[in-house]
Amino acid sequence: MPILVFNCGSSSIKYTLYEKTSGEVIHRGVEQRVTDYNGSLEKIFSDLDTLLTGGFSSIEAVGHRVVHGGRRFRHPHLIDSHVMKGIRSYAELAPLHNPPNIRGIEFAGHRLPGARQVAVFDTSFHSGIPPEAHNYALPVEMAKEYRIRRYGFHGISHQYVHGRAAGFCDVNGNDELKVITCHLGNGCSIAAVRGGLCIDTSMGFTPLEGLVMGTRCGDLDPAIIHYLMSPAGGGLTDDQVHDLLNCESGLKGLSGLSSDVRDLLAARSQGHEGAALALSVFTYRLKKYIGAYHGILGGADALVFTAGIGENSPEIRSETLSSLQPLGFIIDEGLNEAVSGGEAEITGEGGKVRIFVIPTDEDFMIYQEVLKILELQT
Ligand code: ADP
Repeated sequence: MPILVFNCGSSSIKYTLYEKTSGEVIHRGVEQRVTDYNGSLEKIFSDLDTLLTGGFSSIEAVGHRVVHGGRRFRHPHLIDSHVMKGIRSYAELAPLHNPPNIRGIEFAGHRLPGARQVAVFDTSFHSGIPPEAHNYALPVEMAKEYRIRRYGFHGISHQYVHGRAAGFCDVNGNDELKVITCHLGNGCSIAAVRGGLCIDTSMGFTPLEGLVMGTRCGDLDPAIIHYLMSPAGGGLTDDQVHDLLNCESGLKGLSGLSSDVRDLLAARSQGHEGAALALSVFTYRLKKYIGAYHGILGGADALVFTAGIGENSPEIRSETLSSLQPLGFIIDEGLNEAVSGGEAEITGEGGKVRIFVIPTDEDFMIYQEVLKILELQT
């Protein structure tokens, strides 16, 4: 019986259909640039109806990627009215992300009233981050009242690639394995993981904090926001600042050219200064975090590159680790260049930290979590 995995984003809906017992992918689909959300969901279900011999009603369970699970959802959950209430309450903290997730859950619930639905949260992997890393230095009562803390995102991806790296290091029994995972896609984040537990990550209260991203600025002096909103700084409105920091900054803003690393690498080789600047700020920030996480972990056994940039760009991997040799991060440039789509180890001679490229597979991770919940139910 098939299991459907849904990833309902603000402008796209991705889905994967798995055969329950073998884990084989029956079908993958995506609806891009979604404007009529229910219309797109209707289309997906109609496609699934044609595709499956037993029609879409043969789907046994649906797993949903839910971006924000707050402090409450530390693990995947079978969705019931209480869980829905919780997901709705976190929509205030993730106004762009949780509402489309909710629509996907509601739609699947109507169409498949007999199927079990499971929520897998992007924040769960980070929910055990200790107080020194999850607290901002704000008045503590205020932070508590408004639920301000580091939540972290991309948790499903970090957890998946960490699990793969732990498997390669063959130390599943070693509860002290120290791994740094770098998820570098349109959104970018890095996590420090000790003994399978995430102890820090670069995204914070929202996905805006941390690394330089395609169009998001990442770390910023908060006073810049006040300045931009003052007459001297251009008098931007609240919405304009939001748009600037989320959609016009990062690689796109720095380069004045593109948010796509492929474009920037090509432009840099033609002498484009903006592209060169954007890439150097990107790798510099990432380097800084890797150094910091190496410090808080007390060393590292492995480092993983994943997502669009991490999986596909030997230049970015090499430039990022270029000054970190003294800490034991040594790349074999031949192996680095030879990576072609699959999992690979690219550690160079004398390296103390094993370096991996591991394609992320959030949908497969969600499928596995759904299976675990179904097993608990029987
Ligand atoms: P999302 O966060 O939307 O899932 P992806 O993980 O697909 O994004 O990553 C998208 C980014 O990956 C693109 O913006 C592009 O910069 C980068 N990318 C994809 N292929 C390559 C490549 N061959 N070389 C360098 N960067 C690449």
